Amino acid sequence: VIATSAAQEHATAHGAPDGDALPPLEQVRDRVWALATAMPGGLRRLDYTLTYLLVDDDGRVHVVDPGSDTDDNWRLLLAAVAEVSPDGDVGSVIVTHLHPDHLGLARRLREATGAPLVLHEREAVTLAAGPPVAVVDPAVWGVPTERRAELAFLAQAFADHRPLAPDLTVRGVTDHLRPAGLDIEVLHTPGHTAGHVCLRLPAEKLLLTGDHVLPALYPGLGLGGTGPGVSNPIADNVASTARLRPYDDHEVLPGHHYRFTGLVERLDAIDGHHRRRSAEVAEILRSEPGASVYEVAAGLTWSRGWQGLRGGLLYSALLQTSFHIDFLRHSATTGHATPGTLGDLRR
Ligand SMILES: [Zn+2]
Ligand SMILES: [Zn+2]
Repeated sequence: VIATSAAQEHATAHGAPDGDALPPLEQVRDRVWALATAMPGGLRRLDYTLTYLLVDDDGRVHVVDPGSDTDDNWRLLLAAVAEVSPDGDVGSVIVTHLHPDHLGLARRLREATGAPLVLHEREAVTLAAGPPVAVVDPAVWGVPTERRAELAFLAQAFADHRPLAPDLTVRGVTDHLRPAGLDIEVLHTPGHTAGHVCLRLPAEKLLLTGDHVLPALYPGLGLGGTGPGVSNPIADNVASTARLRPYDDHEVLPGHHYRFTGLVERLDAIDGHHRRRSAEVAEILRSEPGASVYEVAAGLTWSRGWQGLRGGLLYSALLQTSFHIDFLRHSATTGHATPGTLGDLRR
């Protein structure tokens, strides 16, 4: 892929720890701006979130993914809104998915401006149900006793979970938001979370991809909204990736890293990554049919190495592995292991 922002590409390559060296506010099109907000506690290559500001014909600013809830980010965001539209109000707060590095400041922004919060209805369901990430009993995954404490952080991380209900929900597979003079097409792209959306600006040929498509890492899948009645996130992601293939001529505005062109090349890489991972899991299960989730995960290749996966990364690794195992078991019983039919598989 080709980066279309040198500053963002540089910050991705060199890191912007603790909010230092964040890429500057950049104008992407006449009415579209990109702002980097710091991601406290972020990992290398996930130092900041990209927040997008869309200015409508009335000068109102529609804020996409306001970023993590910190006082520094709040000041950055207010300054950016004032810069892109000096007399403008905030018209809406549109959030691609429920993770705190995207949704975090939405609550403050809504309270301060009265602007409606827009989410996909699936995210609203997940947020209403309680802590957004499934807390799984480590014993079920076969996690050794001495490593279970590492997973205890989850219960704590969501101990102060406060339900947050959107003012407006987008529904179904495709929806539209039409603030004065803007056409924002909302595409439901489940996988990373069950109610993740991408936003397309057809007139500007821009695609805002949240965490569904990132240029510099493969986002984890099933990180919100799993449970009965929800499709397998691996299957969902294959279908969601296919949905974006018609837009190869669009510039991609992701939720982290840098803007780029070459969408289909990136979609191929993402599909290939998950396909290889599924094949790897299948191989382990062939030789050890009774292996636990933990044992399968320990046998996979990880970019940080298995030993490097601790706490949240260990949790995500185990969760991804469990989805691949479920996915393979379903494929084995239904025989529908071809991409065209994956979207129909239920857990
Ligand atoms: Zn996310
Ligand atoms: Zn994110």
